[in-house]
Amino acid sequence: MTTPTDDIPVPPVPLTRTGGIDRAARHRLDEAWLAAAWSHPSTRVFVVSGGQVLVDDTGDGTELVMTPAFEAPPTETHRYFLGTDEQGVSYFALQKDSLPGRLDQSARAAGLREAGALLSPRDAGLMAHAVALENWQRLHRFCSRCGERTVIVAAGHVRRCPACGAEHYPRTDPAVIMLVTDERDRALLGRQVHWPEGRFSTLAGFVEPGESIEQAVVREVSEEAGVRVGEVEYVASQPWPFPSSLMLGFMARATSSDIEVDGDELHEARWFSRAELRAAFSSGEVLPPSGISIAARLIELWYGEPLPAGLPR
Ligand SMILES: [Zn+2]
Repeated sequence: MTTPTDDIPVPPVPLTRTGGIDRAARHRLDEAWLAAAWSHPSTRVFVVSGGQVLVDDTGDGTELVMTPAFEAPPTETHRYFLGTDEQGVSYFALQKDSLPGRLDQSARAAGLREAGALLSPRDAGLMAHAVALENWQRLHRFCSRCGERTVIVAAGHVRRCPACGAEHYPRTDPAVIMLVTDERDRALLGRQVHWPEGRFSTLAGFVEPGESIEQAVVREVSEEAGVRVGEVEYVASQPWPFPSSLMLGFMARATSSDIEVDGDELHEARWFSRAELRAAFSSGEVLPPSGISIAARLIELWYGEPLPAGLPR
């Protein structure tokens, strides 16, 4: 059986290119190397605070505002080493309680959902890495084995328990996101209960313990929309640090058509042919998904062309 992905390349998924950055994990425990890198004049540093960074839109595009290490070396706790580029430049994020005062009028605060679509692959990747680490640090301050407060080591990438010696690593929660099509090649799109009228997108959900990702696709579609799924094909993944997910994108083929939404997660779900979706976009009945989510890329893979520009999310 052929699927849309046999013919059409996957549209670029935001946050999935390295942008030339080597994470250089070998340096994370080398305090002498980190200290030298921090004080090197070529080193670039940006502040992350509450999932936001400063960006500058005044050039040709939007750039992450980065400076040399502009202050005394902070404690290891607040300094995340993110990697090096092909020229040997080192990149750090400083986690702070607030963003620095505007360096000039061109800088503004932005979160990853917005900036991830505007920044270069290098800058978006650096920001995603820093935001993911900040979220993990914020939510995992205590040892899950003994309850003691942990300390941050490895340049932001490990939390160590001084009481029991346990080491805790950044957590990533796998979630599946899938575009379901039926035998008539219609796509199943749903509207979550808290979404505004007209916003429809792919179904999604978390992988449960003891479950494969393919099983999670089948279960989630059944639970949320009452539709049975047969063939499941993996397409691409996307880091989704809101706060700590990894989105695993699929195309899935339905073996039933009747819809019965659960009412808890989905308020409504509908089958759309391409013509019906195109008409619904034109009339404003359906709002195109937008932003950096892989959802829009999965829909485009089936739709066969870029979606109309949508609303910021
Ligand atoms: Zn412990």
